[in-house]
Amino acid sequence: MTVSFLATPLADAVAMQQRATAGDAEARAYFNGLFTRDDDCFTCAGPVGSHITIQTIADPRHKGQAILTPVCGACAALPALELRRRALKMAKAMWPRFGVWQAHNVPRGKPKAGRPRRVG
Ligand SMILES: [Zn+2]
Repeated sequence: MTVSFLATPLADAVAMQQRATAGDAEARAYFNGLFTRDDDCFTCAGPVGSHITIQTIADPRHKGQAILTPVCGACAALPALELRRRALKMAKAMWPRFGVWQAHNVPRGKPKAGRPRRVG
């Protein structure tokens, strides 16, 4: 199994995603060129085939970075919550300290008693 993903600044990924969703041809071409039909789906490890959906995940190791992953048509058709659950399972397997979806918001080390800390 080969897990394919690309790292990019989170703000850029979100902006490109919004442009692609709005129908911007340049943004759609960008996403269409990221992965090939031979890449493995990030959530089920099967081949993504011709229907590739791009999933954006906040990088648990680098604040402000995103990971773009290919998702096959079958996984993309799953309910959004189930797709997130499966992607989280994969992310936890790849990065054991991955705790919650927005992992860069998790304070490092043991929580301290007393005043609450701002985490985001
Ligand atoms: Zn899949």
